[in-house]
Amino acid sequence: MKRIAVLTSGGDAPGMNAAIRAVVRTGTQKGMEVFGVSLGYSGLIDGKFIPMGPRDVGGIIQKGGTILGSARCEEFKTEAGRMKALRALNGNGIEGLVVIGGNGSQTGSYALSEMGFPVVGVASTIDNDLVGSDITIGVDTALNIALEAIDRLKVTGSSHQRAFLLEVMGRKCGYLALMAAIAGGAETVILPEVDVDPHEIVEILANAYERGKSHAIVVVAEGAKYNATKLAEFFEEHNEEIGFALRVTILGHVQRGGSPSAQDRILGSRLGAGAVDCLAKGEYGVLVGWVSNALKATPLKDVVGKTKPIDMELFELARILD
Ligand code: ADP
Repeated sequence: MKRIAVLTSGGDAPGMNAAIRAVVRTGTQKGMEVFGVSLGYSGLIDGKFIPMGPRDVGGIIQKGGTILGSARCEEFKTEAGRMKALRALNGNGIEGLVVIGGNGSQTGSYALSEMGFPVVGVASTIDNDLVGSDITIGVDTALNIALEAIDRLKVTGSSHQRAFLLEVMGRKCGYLALMAAIAGGAETVILPEVDVDPHEIVEILANAYERGKSHAIVVVAEGAKYNATKLAEFFEEHNEEIGFALRVTILGHVQRGGSPSAQDRILGSRLGAGAVDCLAKGEYGVLVGWVSNALKATPLKDVVGKTKPIDMELFELARILD
C-alpha cells in the first residue's frame, strides 16, 4: 500500500491530533504517501486531499480539537454520497483510509468498507461508548475537565451552602458522568442508562443537608431522562425539603476544548500507529482500539450498532461513597 489518507469525523476529541501525527509519521516511515482529508466525510466527498509529511504534523500533539477539521455529513449516509467519496479516493490513487472518530463515524467507515474500500477506524470519542475499545481518545481529558469543574463548584458551593446540578456530555452513554462523579466525590449521579425517580434525588440532597454538608454535587449526563434543566424544574417545588440553594451548571463544549492529557496523547499515538500497521498488513474493515491494556483490531461489523453497557458496580460505588 503506497498512498493512504486520514480523516477526523463527528465530535472532536482531545488527542485526535496525536493520532493524525502518528498516522502521518508511521505511514511515511513505511514508505507511504499520506494525505489528510479536511472536514471529515464531506471533505472526502469533495476530494479535499492535502499531502502531509512528518513536518506538517509538528507542534500539534499538545493541541485539542483536530487540525484537519471535522464535520457531520448527511450525504455520506447515502449510497450516492459514499459512491462520490469512493470516486474521489480512487481518482486520487488513495489505497487505504484511516477514520478517526466515534460511533457514527465508524458506522460510516463500515459502510465504506462494505463497498470494498480498505478502511481502518481509530476509536475516538469523549463519550467512551464504542464497543472495541475499553477507553477512547478524548475521554481522559474530558473527564479531567469535568473533574476540575466539580472541584471548583465545591469551593464556591461551600461558601453559600449550595447544591449544584452539573451537566456533563453523554447523550446515550453515562461513562463520563459516572467517572466524574466517583473521581469528584459527588453526592449522586444521573445516567441515561438508569432511570431514577427525582424524588429520590430530593431525598439524597435533603439527607446531605441534614448531615451538615456545606455543599452537594449531582452529576447529570446530558442524555438522562431528567437532565439538569428538567431536574431543576422538578426541584422548584421541593426547595424547602432540599435545604441547599440550587444552581445549574451545564459544562457543554467546554469539555472538548482542552489540551489533551498525557493519556490521550499516548493513546492517540498508539492507535494512530496501530491503524497504519493494520493497513500495511492488509487487515481492513477493523476498528483499532485499546482492550485489556493492549492494541486490538476488532471487525467493524462487531462494533457498529452496539452500545457499551455501563458498569453497574461502579454505579453502586458512586452512590454509596456520597
Ligand atoms: P460521532 O462519530 O462522534 O459519533 P456522528 O454520529 O455525528 O459522530 O457521525 C459522524 C458522521 O459519520 C456523520 O455526520 C455521517 O457523515 C457519518 N455517519 C453516521 N452514521 C452513518 C451511517 N449510518 N452511514 C454512513 N455514515 C454515517
